[in-house]
Amino acid sequence: MTQIASDNVENPDVPSAVFESLDPRTGEVVGRYPVDDAAAVQTAVDSVRAAQHAWGDLGFAGRKQHLDRWRALLLRRFEELAGVVCAETGKPLDDARLELALVVDHLHWAAANAEKVLRRRKVSSGLLMANHAATVEHQPFGVVGVIGPWNYPVFTPMGSIAYALAAGNAVVFKPSELTPGVGRWLVDSFAEAVPEHPVLRLATGFGETGAALCRSGADKIAFTGSTATGKRVMATCAETLTPVLVECGGKDALIVDTDADLQAAADAALWGAMSNAGQTCIGVERVYVAEPVADRFLDMIGERARTLRPGGEPGADLGPITMPSQVDVIREHIDGALRSGGRALVGGTDSVRPPFVEPVVLTDVDENADAVAEETFGPVVVVQRVRDADEGVRLANTSEYGLGAAVFSRSRGEQLARQLRVGMVAVNSVIAFAAVPALPFGGVGNSGFGRIHGAEGLREFTRPQSVTRTKFRIPLNPMSFSRPKSTVRHVVRLLRIFRGR
Ligand code: NDP
Repeated sequence: MTQIASDNVENPDVPSAVFESLDPRTGEVVGRYPVDDAAAVQTAVDSVRAAQHAWGDLGFAGRKQHLDRWRALLLRRFEELAGVVCAETGKPLDDARLELALVVDHLHWAAANAEKVLRRRKVSSGLLMANHAATVEHQPFGVVGVIGPWNYPVFTPMGSIAYALAAGNAVVFKPSELTPGVGRWLVDSFAEAVPEHPVLRLATGFGETGAALCRSGADKIAFTGSTATGKRVMATCAETLTPVLVECGGKDALIVDTDADLQAAADAALWGAMSNAGQTCIGVERVYVAEPVADRFLDMIGERARTLRPGGEPGADLGPITMPSQVDVIREHIDGALRSGGRALVGGTDSVRPPFVEPVVLTDVDENADAVAEETFGPVVVVQRVRDADEGVRLANTSEYGLGAAVFSRSRGEQLARQLRVGMVAVNSVIAFAAVPALPFGGVGNSGFGRIHGAEGLREFTRPQSVTRTKFRIPLNPMSFSRPKSTVRHVVRLLRIFRGR
């Protein structure tokens, strides 16, 4: 992600800056990509806009056929894409495969369900308009700009791309500067599977390229990334009143009740906290465990955490920290937690050995410490003792974030889940909701707003159009200058009779 030269690698006749994408495990250069400026972004938006009409005209069944072809291609070249993900993020091969498996299922769901969710449907025309037929149809916006992060460089943007395309939109995708090769692969594979409809294009570069996409006249921006950038994206989109979907970070909590299956809870907490080296927006960053079972839970999670090893080999338990600057944030959170009186049950400040961080389990940390309040985005979990699960819920809800959460309880799982101020909860598991395509995905508060996935995720990329059609004329038409004086009085009388009870 260093800007290096001013040769356009795609078209040597058009000079522009290029940047390098690096393998975070080794620092090796894995690709060079153009830094697209505002003019290049505009060209991409204009070209997909021209192609969008034919894509929209295909209808749901036609688009499904094409998206199914793309899905089949993704499955055929699954290992190749997993390799690109590993090279740019450093994550272990099986983690990359798991990410792609979820993507394939989401792409299938979006294509298979778009018609049912979005097609024109009749609605009741109500008492006053009984002589009209009323319908609502969800029409595509046109062009959707998708701005994605690096941590799940396929799964996260595809939560917008697949659903936006299924709804009939064209898309310009701006991947993170750390994972442009993954973006390139996705866009090229779509072009290979669906050559007759060039409705997915790439814009690579840094934050300015993303900002140019926000200003390009795209009809909606779907942003996934940090809360700070989300606010900047919103401010830019406000200039043109461009609607925006904002999926930001989280500080997800896991609640362990006294009657929980403790082995399962410890296993899930550890996986939720450490998989992808903790670089998961819905990763477990805090655990609130009820006092009567806290010692046993801490023993279990500590014992298992000590066996996990980070590394660059495909079979490592966790990979490197992909974004070098995050290492300092992780170190500061651990230091701050220990300074505030917290204890390190596993690891500590010495666990930070860039580009890797060994698992760290902290406990008894001040609730105001950054390790409890801010997104750490590393293999660090804070386990706090609480009187009972209800106190755990109360503390979980003090966060300014509200993305996901998990509850382990045999008797009260769903009851506790409903009290959590978050967009998604897994009961007796972690992260499960992200793998259910029919479930909307998104948060509240500093975690953003709007939803990807599910029916809500399809509707997110459409604007409802409402239509009324006069079925027959009635003598009592109040919406005419030629209405008799008594008409409105009759309408009010009718209202009193039928709506006055
Ligand atoms: P960033 O916020 O740094 O970047 C996200 C994207 O925004 C990148 O493509 C970035 O480009 C681009 N960008 C940066 N500045 C601007 C700007 N001014 N205008 C428009 N676009 C801009 O996030 P990360 O890539 O570091 O991703 C990690 C974050 O993403 C974490 O906070 C994580 O929790 C969150 N996340 C949220 C998810 C969710 O669904 N809620 C899912 C996955 C991650 P560039 O990379 O070139 O700077």
